[in-house]
Amino acid sequence: MRSSAFHLATVKETPADAEIASHQLMIRTGMIRKLSSGIYSWSPLGLKVLRKVEQIIREEMDRAGCLEMLMPSIQPSDLWQETGRWDVFGPLLLKINDRAGRDFCFGPTHEEVITDFVRAEIRSYKQLPICFYQIQSKFRDEIRPRFGVMRAREFTMKDAYSFHLDDASMSETYQRMHAAYCRVFERMDLAFRPVEADSGAIGGSESHEFQVLAESGEDAIVYSTDSEYAANIETAEALAPPPSTAESNNLEVVDTPNQRTINEVCTHLGVSAAETVKTLIIETTEGQLVALCLRGDHELNEVKASRQAMIGNGWQLASDEKILKACTTPVGYLGPYQLSLPMIVDRAAAALDEFVCGANDLGKHLKHVTWAAVNFDRKDDPIIIADLRNVIEGDPSPDGRGTLKIARGIEVGHIFKLGTKYSESMNAMVQNEGGKPVPMMMGCYGIGVSRIVAAAIEQNHDDRGIIWPQALAPFTVVIVPLNGHKSPRVTEAANTLYEQLMAQGVEVLLDDRKLRPGVMFADAELLGIPHRVVIGEKALDQNQFEYLQRTASENEMIDQDTAFDYLIKQLSGN
Ligand code: ATP
Ligand code: MG
Repeated sequence: MRSSAFHLATVKETPADAEIASHQLMIRTGMIRKLSSGIYSWSPLGLKVLRKVEQIIREEMDRAGCLEMLMPSIQPSDLWQETGRWDVFGPLLLKINDRAGRDFCFGPTHEEVITDFVRAEIRSYKQLPICFYQIQSKFRDEIRPRFGVMRAREFTMKDAYSFHLDDASMSETYQRMHAAYCRVFERMDLAFRPVEADSGAIGGSESHEFQVLAESGEDAIVYSTDSEYAANIETAEALAPPPSTAESNNLEVVDTPNQRTINEVCTHLGVSAAETVKTLIIETTEGQLVALCLRGDHELNEVKASRQAMIGNGWQLASDEKILKACTTPVGYLGPYQLSLPMIVDRAAAALDEFVCGANDLGKHLKHVTWAAVNFDRKDDPIIIADLRNVIEGDPSPDGRGTLKIARGIEVGHIFKLGTKYSESMNAMVQNEGGKPVPMMMGCYGIGVSRIVAAAIEQNHDDRGIIWPQALAPFTVVIVPLNGHKSPRVTEAANTLYEQLMAQGVEVLLDDRKLRPGVMFADAELLGIPHRVVIGEKALDQNQFEYLQRTASENEMIDQDTAFDYLIKQLSGN
């Protein structure tokens, strides 16, 4: 491709609303342009990269035995009513009406559509197992679209769905997909980790996320120092500490007139946050208030809270008003002692021999509180002890080997064993070997195709621009002729090398714009093209070109006669 015939639209300024490097660089290189919040156009440059990502995924899905198909983006509400997800998906679902007033949505995922397809197509166990996939636009009306295509509203996903007669077959395909996902991200040269994950709104039993490691990642992932254990923080179990056997002192009321936060109370009373218990009041979708008690230095894990039978999905923190009405004490002075609400206590808080907490009395806290005292005075049901908190660095690994560390990650893929969740609600049956109809087992497997482009940049850039892994680069080689418009000799040498590389199938960008060398170098670096050849009068006098890899700090001189062979060798990594 000659730059003069291409649409290169690099910009110097960093856009004001772009907070992270990948978003800034995708705008500065001109890969994407915003149409509306979370909705982007891909320029020819950006699309080249997106297509490379798609192609690697397609090859690995085909190799894993999946069959490509294409489902509609617009889905009728009836299917979503069958699974109950029309309401469960909530405001994420972009709902649309047709001219007859019928309800549709723009698909955020395709479990319903594929299950409907399969229940009509597959009759017998002999047709199983089978796995379908597609690469297609999804729409999720994200509450806070941000970071460009990283968390967009319209984005490209690869979604695959497998169907089975039994659990063993589902597990076998799940393992094969796990391996295929690893190959996908290895081919892209990304540093990633598969981690155990929560199956969330999609439902199902086992699930793994594939996380690209990056400081700017929205997810916290947890791994063990001494074993293979790795999980999303949402799922990582915090083990119960051994119960304390220390003697405790007598309960004491202390004045804390202006101390409401854990920090203020700790400073005032000279204790550490780990010696305090904080009480959060949440409200379930049924309007029930529940008290959650955690150690002052620990954070509530919202997914773990939702897993409690008493709470369920869709809860929120109770309003100050509701808390005041139910507890007669404002936030800041609440505590488990003599609190008449259903109560769940985190394991670590429950292991404290004694602690400081709010006295349920304005301007007062209690010292030397024990759980025995809390339980003794309870009029309501006994307290429940559960794992409610986020793990922190240094906690023991749940598999008993090593301690936990925390890193940041970008979720680029997510695989689930769904079991019969969708086939049962949608009546997708096959005849088994005995001729009896049974619901099919399912697995589903997603990859954030467009998010990968951003994640790859997040992991591979410097202050001059993108550093593309070779497999994703929009162009492999850039040729920069210096003042070619004034030197026929330079132009000719550049054209010759360009033609040679093109004939070999190498994706080359020949920068034939009549620009100052500095501008062309800066663009080549910004675009992140892995290999650069500079052709100028001076070096040509010695029959030489200048060669520089995007990752190298020093350029080398290469002979004009052998330049082509040399480059081909570099490209193949030899
Ligand atoms: P997240 O937790 O990031 O919101 P999710 O768990 O809701 O994602 P899945 O339903 O597992 O997403 O979708 C499969 C994949 O699609 C995700 O692993 C992610 O890579 C990608 N994806 C999901 N939401 C978005 C989005 N808003 N923009 C870009 N990619 C997305
Ligand atoms: Mg997910």
